[in-house]
Amino acid sequence: MKKRPLGQNFLIDPNIAQNIIQLAQIQPGEPVVEIGPGKGVLTQLLINEADSLTAIELDPKLSRELQNRFSKSPSFKLIEGDAAKFDYGSLGTGLNVVSNLPYYAATHIMKKLIHYRNNIRSMTLMLQKEVVDRLTAKPGLRSYGSLSVYVQYHCEVQRLLEIPNTAFSPKPKIDSSLIGLKPLPQPRVQVKDPQLFFKMVHSAFFHKRKMLKNNLKDWEHLFNEENGQAQLAGIDLNRRGETLSLNDFADIANHVHTLTAA
Ligand code: SAM
Repeated sequence: MKKRPLGQNFLIDPNIAQNIIQLAQIQPGEPVVEIGPGKGVLTQLLINEADSLTAIELDPKLSRELQNRFSKSPSFKLIEGDAAKFDYGSLGTGLNVVSNLPYYAATHIMKKLIHYRNNIRSMTLMLQKEVVDRLTAKPGLRSYGSLSVYVQYHCEVQRLLEIPNTAFSPKPKIDSSLIGLKPLPQPRVQVKDPQLFFKMVHSAFFHKRKMLKNNLKDWEHLFNEENGQAQLAGIDLNRRGETLSLNDFADIANHVHTLTAA
């Protein structure tokens, strides 16, 4: 099969395209950023909806075609470049990002956007269905992991739409889902040391089938014993990481922070 290095699976279903734009709920006057406009199926609709639209496309050939097609519109600006390296801060605040993300870089670009969360009001992103399962997963589910914690810590997360692979050309092997992410004004849980919090979250999920007492060995000297069971911040370390809520992770990390802050 021909390799598609830039994740170029183009949306060909006009109803789904229309649906995505409606679900993005763009407010009058708010700037819109489209990542990977491709052949312009969403761009065409966004241009009617948005007062200003900045599109970032990596492929030079597609960029040329987009420029020829849309440059007449004064609200449209095309940037030929890599969305994973782009400085979104340069576009100001209140950004609404809309994208059918290229699969190969989707998670990476999404994390980059979350990094610029102070500049962003909303993200409406089409991603591989399995990735959306992870982003929306609650504790106890198989797909719950450090990516779920990371995204839910920073954002309001809403699953918006399921999109079958038949809606794209060429047809990818996998289905997609549309997700809405809204950066929270404050992180979902209060954490004294975010770096330590995420380090512990990553460790807790490192070997998914292992108990916390094995995954959190770096902090073993801080464990205490209750009825012969290892505990940390009152949490039974015979549990697995996948059973812990964001609040549980915050309790553990804040407890360790207090014990180790001299
Ligand atoms: N928006 C179009 C649609 O829905 O039909 C195209 C979506 S296609 C899945 C992904 C698009 O992102 C392609 O046009 C591809 O060239 C572009 N792309 C891939 N990697 C990129 C990157 N790092 N930065 C910006 N655009 C990228």
